[in-house]
Amino acid sequence: MENNTIIAATRNAHKIIEIEAITKKFGMNIISRDEAGIPKDEIEEDGTTFEENSYKKAYEIMKICNRITIADDSGISVDYLGGAPGIYSARYAGEECDDAANRVKMLKELEGVPVEKRGAKYVCVITMVFPDGETLVARGECRGHIGFEEIGTNGFGYDSIFIPEGFDKTFAEFEPEAKNKMSHRAEALIKLEQLLREREK
Ligand code: IMP
Repeated sequence: MENNTIIAATRNAHKIIEIEAITKKFGMNIISRDEAGIPKDEIEEDGTTFEENSYKKAYEIMKICNRITIADDSGISVDYLGGAPGIYSARYAGEECDDAANRVKMLKELEGVPVEKRGAKYVCVITMVFPDGETLVARGECRGHIGFEEIGTNGFGYDSIFIPEGFDKTFAEFEPEAKNKMSHRAEALIKLEQLLREREK
């Protein structure tokens, strides 16, 4: 493995593609935990914040491979739902559910709720843990609202029902490059880049 190779603690292929699109600009070579040969045991996401879960994922994988590891914990918080599903976004409709079931549940929960009360934000916390335990944490957020129906086929998760602030189309209608410039993940990775630059000083 090259020196600039960093292990991504996630198995979510969509997240890896988005992280890679951004980190390659910084000369980092991201490989997935599967490519790095990390056993498939699930890391329990039992934290109460995005920060706790993100750190746990990065630290556990770093301990196994003794290489720089990057983890993403992300989700969507809906104002009308008191911030839910938040850290539980991936399993909103149940442990064995998928993205489609999560979207259906969210639209149902918001049935009859007017547009001005459908505010929401995507949150992404990226944590980078080094073999000596040094840790960098970067949070990104992207505000918008939940639409009334699914529109668009790009992206993943809640993208086809999330309309970012200042636009009238869902994330799933944006080209990936455009989403990757303005998303919560992009903001977190830009902050991470700043932290990496300060660290090099
Ligand atoms: P995690 O793997 O526990 O961090 O779960 C993140 C979940 O939040 C995903 O399964 C999606 O449901 C949702 N999510 C996070 N980021 C995005 C995004 O960029 N687009 C759509 N859904 C997202």
